[in-house]
Amino acid sequence: MLWLLFGLLFLVIVACCFGCCCEEGNYRSYLDAGVEIQLMRIVFALSTFGLLLLSLTAPNANAWGCKGHQTVALLAEKHLTPEAKKMVDALLSGNPIDPKLKRYCGDSVRDAMADASTWPDDVRNERKNGPWHYIDIPLGAERGSVEQYCGAEGCVTKAITENAAIVQDQNADPAKRADALRYVIHFVGDLHQPLHGATNNDQGGNCVPVNYLRRQARENGNSFSPNLHSLWDTAIVERDMEGADPAEFAETLDALFTRKIADWQKAGIHVDDWIWESHAYAVSTAYGALMPKIPVAASVTVHSCADDNNVGERLLRLHVAAGAAYQELASPVIEERIAQAGIRLAMILNEAAKPMP
Ligand SMILES: [Zn+2]
Repeated sequence: MLWLLFGLLFLVIVACCFGCCCEEGNYRSYLDAGVEIQLMRIVFALSTFGLLLLSLTAPNANAWGCKGHQTVALLAEKHLTPEAKKMVDALLSGNPIDPKLKRYCGDSVRDAMADASTWPDDVRNERKNGPWHYIDIPLGAERGSVEQYCGAEGCVTKAITENAAIVQDQNADPAKRADALRYVIHFVGDLHQPLHGATNNDQGGNCVPVNYLRRQARENGNSFSPNLHSLWDTAIVERDMEGADPAEFAETLDALFTRKIADWQKAGIHVDDWIWESHAYAVSTAYGALMPKIPVAASVTVHSCADDNNVGERLLRLHVAAGAAYQELASPVIEERIAQAGIRLAMILNEAAKPMP
């Protein structure tokens, strides 16, 4: 909204400038050079300000909305060793979240781990670590080394490994360990959201407008609602939860996957394998089950849905739909990914709580 207002202001100023000059028929003779330079400076400054606002309000890839992240944390908590539980409780209660911080998911979440699970999204702009939440593996990529897709500013796999090491380091500053713990709790969730391990020049599906059930996709500035990413973060998850709160949903998933949990635990901690699982689900289901199918795009850098020749608007014209059949296909994937995230988060924390060799 802010940048829309700016855009209007910008247009009014430009219209005024050109209005003056057009009335006179000759811009250069009407304005002396000094005034002209001043005007150019103002327009330039306002453009820069507008671009800054645009970057701050660009669609965010947050992964699992509040309920998804909280479910991951609550499920993990059930599978912590007593040592890990003690470590988590001590770090979180000894180094609480700044009470002045605006919490997107509300500040009345009683469980400390569930509360911690959404903190990294609240400090995402302040700490400028947006790229830690995902890794942009192009839709057509062959499975291989993950590192080549991890940019200079980091990515979700690297962020998990580095922050888990800080949690494990008992000599590290406790406040830093607590932050690292909150990051691990959140990023293991993010990593399991299929669209955090894939992109098709569309910001991980953020620029893919999707008509979902009865809802028609709409454009608001350069963001779209619903969009493919938001469906997987929130809409499909919450419909699948059927009104259960995160604690109840964690219980349901724990019971549903009882048999598989032992296999996941036995397989051990392999962060790179886990992101390729996400990527495969993005290919097969998140993108694969859409109607009509979106062609795999040649890889270019996209910073907003206006880039790549207005990728968002181009896709809006495709009228991509996700109906009841899509929800049916996506729900079991989402349930498995949230359950795996919870179990694997517990595995990482149980490992981190072991005394260092
Ligand atoms: Zn995130």
